[in-house]
Amino acid sequence: MLRRNFFLNKKLVIIVLAILLFGISFYWLVLHDNAPKSPTQTIVKANNPEVQSAVPVIDKAKYSTTDPASPWVVVNKQRPLPRTYIPTNLVTPNILLSEVTNSENMHISNVMNDALSKLVVGAKQSGYSLMLVSGYRSYTTQSSVYNGYVKQDGQIKADTYSAQPGHSEHQTGLAVDLGRSDRKCQLESCFGDLPEGKWLTANAYEYGFIIRYTKNKQQITGYSYEPWHLRYVGTELSREIYRNNLETLEEFFGLQLYSPRKTNSRLFESPSLAQNRLSSFNVSKDMSLSEKSVFGSKIIASKTHEFVLRGL
Ligand SMILES: [Zn+2]
Repeated sequence: MLRRNFFLNKKLVIIVLAILLFGISFYWLVLHDNAPKSPTQTIVKANNPEVQSAVPVIDKAKYSTTDPASPWVVVNKQRPLPRTYIPTNLVTPNILLSEVTNSENMHISNVMNDALSKLVVGAKQSGYSLMLVSGYRSYTTQSSVYNGYVKQDGQIKADTYSAQPGHSEHQTGLAVDLGRSDRKCQLESCFGDLPEGKWLTANAYEYGFIIRYTKNKQQITGYSYEPWHLRYVGTELSREIYRNNLETLEEFFGLQLYSPRKTNSRLFESPSLAQNRLSSFNVSKDMSLSEKSVFGSKIIASKTHEFVLRGL
């Protein structure tokens, strides 16, 4: 009996040992690799330069946002360029041009010459042919372009798609309008639906450009969608904007956003000026009847700011 118990106990010990051995082996072979890393391992990983380089931190003060020659200059409705500013480094890019080489608008800042060529080559490799529609534009040229649009559509409408003189990025030489060689949808929003427009939206940031006036950020820029207008900012910034899911320079640098009330209030310093400005505006086309009556009373009282806000 005693001997039988001894054998039974011995059997039990062997079974328990076998289970323990199996359990330990299972842990080391299967579970151990998936176990959470110890704090020591995490610190080693964070110190790995490869991991750190995947999360770059950009120095937002690296370049000026006010110097007209800076690749990061921000020009918008609130931030004009000096009237006399002309870039000193204008060149004609070696890409397909829409006009003769000595035309003013077939020039760009030398700062983005290489980047623009690379972008056009990149598009070509994907099967798309891009052409320079417009590059540098002087203050004087912008004045005649803008005034032409005001005559055609009235100032309020013109302000949604054309910059007032001194407020155009084209005056820096750092902005280009691109299009297809067959001019289909040239300077029209439908360019964004063409393969070339889609390619630019998806890839421009890789070459140092941003689509400056996107569909989703019209309230921030104050301009309608322009899928053809590219602004050079350099790859460091364009990739950072993309990585942060942002689209505009105003958002990235935390600058004042477009404010129609503020912008237009300057245009209505006197009732006579307001009358002149608004007489060119096509009321019946852009406003409802109720707003028109508001329009009349506001004009008489020469308090047009609120009205203008609705008109936009
Ligand atoms: Zn443009």
